[in-house]
Amino acid sequence: MGVLLQISGLIIAAALFLLVVSVLATSLSQHRGTVKLMNQQMEDARAIAEAHRLEYERARTEADLSWQGYRKFEIQRKAYEDELQQICSFYLVPHDKRQLPPFKPGQFLTFQLQIQTQHDQPGQPKPTIRCYSLSECSNPDLYRVSIKRMPPPRDNPDAPPGLASNYFHDHLNEGDIVDVKAPGGNFFLDTTQERPVVLIGGGIGVTPVLSMLNEIVESGSKRETWFFYGARNGSEHVMKEHLNRIALENDNVHLHVCYSAPKEGEVEGEDYHHKGRVSVDLFKELLPSNNYQFHICGPPPMMTSLVEGLEAWDVPDEDIKFEAFGPASVKKAPPASAIASAPTAELQITFGKSGKTCAWDASAGSILDFAEANGVVIDAGCRVGNCNTCLTAIKSGEVDYVRPPDTPPDAGTCLTCISVPKGDLTLDA
Ligand SMILES: Cc1cc2nc3c(=O)[nH]c(=O)nc-3n(C[C@H](O)[C@H](O)[C@H](O)COP(=O)(O)OP(=O)(O)OC[C@H]3O[C@@H](n4cnc5c(N)ncnc54)[C@H](O)[C@@H]3O)c2cc1C
Repeated sequence: MGVLLQISGLIIAAALFLLVVSVLATSLSQHRGTVKLMNQQMEDARAIAEAHRLEYERARTEADLSWQGYRKFEIQRKAYEDELQQICSFYLVPHDKRQLPPFKPGQFLTFQLQIQTQHDQPGQPKPTIRCYSLSECSNPDLYRVSIKRMPPPRDNPDAPPGLASNYFHDHLNEGDIVDVKAPGGNFFLDTTQERPVVLIGGGIGVTPVLSMLNEIVESGSKRETWFFYGARNGSEHVMKEHLNRIALENDNVHLHVCYSAPKEGEVEGEDYHHKGRVSVDLFKELLPSNNYQFHICGPPPMMTSLVEGLEAWDVPDEDIKFEAFGPASVKKAPPASAIASAPTAELQITFGKSGKTCAWDASAGSILDFAEANGVVIDAGCRVGNCNTCLTAIKSGEVDYVRPPDTPPDAGTCLTCISVPKGDLTLDA
């Protein structure tokens, strides 16, 4: 009995000892867990602070080195990027050899070209203004743009081919000089954040998102990045090796190339990832959630379907960023202030020179979109309030801006690409 009592006493003591050890171990491991979490949070906070510091420095350098108006650049190198030689990269260095301002990945350059057309007075070409996205960010001493030769529209093969893009391909060569405005535009990657991103490029619309991808990789960011690229097939697949190498060398980058019309012999899973177009259904299949910042640039049908699809998937508006290379295909409502200050009756816009008066409502988009839809020609370049090409005199009335202009226009004028009428409006167009 005494032995039994001694044994049960020992068992109880051992059990108590184990209990104490286990409580200590649990609290130690919880403590370790808490310390690890705190370290991680401090690490994240440090990374964010560092990103803000770098962004501050970048913005200061940009302000110091930027320029007003047009600056001369020399084409240092010209290189084709695709099998069919339809997309050509131009590497530009400043003719004055002074340092270049940094730019935000996704921004573009505005070019002013003197191209003689059949409508011009002999010897007096009207300047042609066009914008091209910066497609590379790794060399601070040069800018690179990648330009697609624009053919006549499929439904109008007899129309003249694209003026500026063909001029770049056929007439501009290494050593030539072009006039260029400082980088601009509001479609860019916020590099102060580490939030996961989805970058989507269709056709030549790949250029700004390529610049964003390059920046993520070059900066060593481990930001989760999904890159969707839509092309018809391998003939149009630009920078294939570059993209494959990035995906191979960076665990945080997930590359998905979609061919809508693969050529015979092109194999899904080898030459490209998915047959078909880039779609929200594909995102739902591949992405763990909808909690990403989406950046989209591509042809009008792609932009419309993706933006609408993402909205339907409950992605908040502020997480869907997009840029159109031509007339805006995705119409965004004007700001609440514009609607609040507008009279409830239908607004009338009169285009004085064209002799047209048309009824405007909020679904019409910008004044520029509205003018084009009504057959009124207003020259335009960037369509995002940077290049001033669409600047038009206001004869009466006022406008509201859907987004702030990069530089406020002179009194009595408006940038039609980013403005909407406040009330009845008469323009000198
Ligand atoms: C912010 C921004 C960034 C951009 N980035 C890039 C980029 O990185 N790379 C790139 O390649 N492009 C880019 N673009 C597009 C670029 O600016 C030009 O719009 C594009 O190169 C076409 O210009 P173009 O002068 O060659 O064609 P345009 O002369 O403007 O012609 C456009 C189309 O109209 C057709 N056309 C011309 N005349 C007629 C007519 N009488 N009847 C019917 N059709 C006609 C042409 O054949 C052509 O298909 C960007 C645009 C913007 C706004």
